[in-house]
Amino acid sequence: MAELAIYPGSFDPLTNGHVDIIERGLRVFDRIVVAVALNVRKKGALFSVEERLDQIKRQFPEDEVEVDTFHGLLVDYARSRGCNVVLRGLRAVSDFEYELQMANMNRNLAPDIETVFVMAGENHFYISSTLVKEVARFGEDISEFVPAHVLDPLNEKLEAIDDEG
Ligand code: ADP
Repeated sequence: MAELAIYPGSFDPLTNGHVDIIERGLRVFDRIVVAVALNVRKKGALFSVEERLDQIKRQFPEDEVEVDTFHGLLVDYARSRGCNVVLRGLRAVSDFEYELQMANMNRNLAPDIETVFVMAGENHFYISSTLVKEVARFGEDISEFVPAHVLDPLNEKLEAIDDEG
């Protein structure tokens, strides 16, 4: 039984959807490494990597959740950490195809590493970092979608962008 799992992603910003997956993951694993990907295709992040790491750190006790970054292949990073479980979250059917593809590619690259999926809770299945940013930008209240300590920095960043034009 694995004690450690790696939960990789962009986390730009951390949402209550991510929090839900991590909390559910902690029922199965003793510790989770939340690993912020540095080289994902997504360009133009709103929060710096340091800010994202800090958001995650503030949310969880250090002895249960560790934060880290990685670039390159996830399976190489997992091996370097001596970890053979990758944790991912599933929302709607739309996630399924991409996640299936990625899990199979990773399995091909590293048959010893297993991807474990956790289903979003019913209150979280429609939350994504992208959508939260879009809705917040139009002035809507997003307090139920992100942790309280993410809310102000998120609104401030978006205001600063709008002020720039
Ligand atoms: P990525 O760019 O790798 O998709 P994200 O930060 O968007 O990074 O998501 C990381 C993981 O968390 C993915 O497996 C994604 O499906 C999952 N996830 C994100 N939001 C939710 C949510 N609301 N419910 C369940 N899983 C989620």
